Amino acid sequence: MELKYFKKGGIHPHDSKYTADMPITNAHLPKQIRIPMNMHIGAPAKVLVKAGDKVEEGQLIGEAVGFISANIHASVSGTVIAVEKGDTLVAKGVDHVIIETGGSIRNWYDKKFDYSKTSPEKLLEMIKAAGIVGMGGATFPTHVKLSPPKEKPMDIFIVNGAECEPYLTIDHRTMLEKPDAIIEGVNIIKKILGVKRVMIGIEENKPDAIEALSKASEGDSSIEIYALRTRYPQGGEKQLIQALTGREVPSGGLPSDVGVLVQNVATIFAIYEAVVFQKPLIERGLTYTGEQIEKRGNYKVRIGSPVQALIDELGMPAEHGTVIAGGPMMGLELTDMQFPVTKGTSGIVVLPKKRDYAVNDFPCIRCARCQFVCPIGLEPWYLKTLVDKSLLEEAVERGLLDCIECGSCSFVCPSTIPLVAMFRFGKGFWRRKQAAAAKQAG
Ligand code: SF4
Ligand code: SF4
Repeated sequence: MELKYFKKGGIHPHDSKYTADMPITNAHLPKQIRIPMNMHIGAPAKVLVKAGDKVEEGQLIGEAVGFISANIHASVSGTVIAVEKGDTLVAKGVDHVIIETGGSIRNWYDKKFDYSKTSPEKLLEMIKAAGIVGMGGATFPTHVKLSPPKEKPMDIFIVNGAECEPYLTIDHRTMLEKPDAIIEGVNIIKKILGVKRVMIGIEENKPDAIEALSKASEGDSSIEIYALRTRYPQGGEKQLIQALTGREVPSGGLPSDVGVLVQNVATIFAIYEAVVFQKPLIERGLTYTGEQIEKRGNYKVRIGSPVQALIDELGMPAEHGTVIAGGPMMGLELTDMQFPVTKGTSGIVVLPKKRDYAVNDFPCIRCARCQFVCPIGLEPWYLKTLVDKSLLEEAVERGLLDCIECGSCSFVCPSTIPLVAMFRFGKGFWRRKQAAAAKQAG
């Protein structure tokens, strides 16, 4: 099979996929669940319950507010013991619903819904009701993503099975264990978008997943499966689109500008469950892993489970390195183990060494390695200087907002400059400034 790959930059870190052979199993139900109302991009959901309320697994407890937002459901049956403000990895002072677990565990799989005669509009409504968001980390509400503007016709739907982040193997296992469900999820999306062509991209280091999906889609000429060269960030939307279709998403543009829509494997599986079993997004698969972790593996975890509950069940040595929510390249360092697993948490990775983000004693030596590996073609060394000097307007002109935060530049920098952290900060600061200016202008 001819390998597809993106053409600009990229790196090849050790893949450290220690859990690739480990089947997905259920993590224990924690005693208490903390569900934040901002597990998606857009407006936080509005809390619908109060302390003392009894809730059933799957009950709506947070209602989407506005166009870009997502519903949130109780991931366990139990009693709401508090609704309080708390911090998450990405925001401060967010409403959390705290549920003490108790009561029945629901069986979602006893009845299958036949969606063959269901309209695309109704399917979209079902996805919206289930609170599905992009589970590869982007957390953009899926019903919005699946409603591209009419003036931008879509002709290709891409399934992102690259899973290029080191350590993570949950997408790999899902493709291996649930290939028929993924193909059914693909068919649901095809029906919604009305596209005739589907391209599935999987990195070549997962030949068994390529085989499983090829078998599951046998005889369907609308579905094409491609092996991708194992190279980070092959799973970035723009990189994947370029590798598979040769189309370039323009600077500041979206995949819909080139007639493409991309969904990752975990999201497609959630769409399948939402439509076929009417199951809202109350749990997700994740990889719990690291060199020092004895019980590393792939686990199904209820949304809102505190990371500490996983640590108590699966272990973590007292002396360990940085703990990351997500993959080591694009994930965020967990600063509080009581933070919950959210809809976007694809892994908990325990690195062997502490990352020192705080101080960078080494100056930039203008080696340009960061520039060679940037998949967008930016000049990270120069952007860093501009962000350092708060010259944000110029940084934006030089492509700061096009940075996909892949971390390739930080990875190769011999001076260990935390480039991607600086770009995240710069982008956040710029967006807040723009929002404040817009507010002031009325
Ligand atoms: S983090 Fe941004 S600047 Fe650095 S390599 Fe990735 S896209 Fe380029
Ligand atoms: S890799 Fe690091 S040291 Fe080299 S040019 Fe880029 S920022 Fe400077």
